[in-house]
Amino acid sequence: MRKRCAEKGVGIDQCIASSVVHEFGHVLGLSHEQNRPDDPSSELCHRNDPETVIFTGDIGQFVYHTWGNTKFTPYDPNSVMNYCRIPYYGNTKLSLMDQVAVKVYYGNIPGFSTPGGWNGLVGRGIRTMRIPKLMINNLPYNAVLTESGIDSNHDGKYDNVYTLTITYNPSVQSISPVTLVGSATKVGSVINIKPGSKISFPLFKYSSAGKVVRVGHASVIKRADGWWIFDSYKYFYDIH
Ligand SMILES: [Zn+2]
Repeated sequence: MRKRCAEKGVGIDQCIASSVVHEFGHVLGLSHEQNRPDDPSSELCHRNDPETVIFTGDIGQFVYHTWGNTKFTPYDPNSVMNYCRIPYYGNTKLSLMDQVAVKVYYGNIPGFSTPGGWNGLVGRGIRTMRIPKLMINNLPYNAVLTESGIDSNHDGKYDNVYTLTITYNPSVQSISPVTLVGSATKVGSVINIKPGSKISFPLFKYSSAGKVVRVGHASVIKRADGWWIFDSYKYFYDIH
């Protein structure tokens, strides 16, 4: 490490700080970004590094390690796990995608799961999205969006309409609360949410068989007939 930093003219303090951040990335399960087979810069910055390159003995012949088996995002040139980032060993800041990866795997964020696979086919099982912390009128709730499981227009697919079940939970902890934007009234212990109200998920994950398979952002809105529907839905990348 010291040698690498010296070669790049990086001071020892910066070198240590940057390495600590990087090594904690390994502790959390992140692998070296530059070892991805789709690393477009694999010719350049780490050719002489034994952690990255297996030397075959022939001059000019290199084989790159491909340690790590899950690709979370497209190749990220700014990841702290990337030896090729600029400045090399000069940056202790997690990239946006580093932050997302850690939140998705360790944070308590809204998550979809389905018992029967996720691919939009009949028989896949009814999808539920758990929302660890939903703020309504400044109070914290656990919430679950549950797909209807009905095919009211007989097109062979479940209709993508949802019910929202909420449970008051004053002790709920979460790094990523989401907030109801709209209007809700409380009658006794029952919360009535007005149609047109909306919940946005800046980050949610989709799991299948215990594995995260998709990450994105979305919002849902309550229709006049009482069903919730997705108002927007966008994902970053399918994880493989
Ligand atoms: Zn490393």
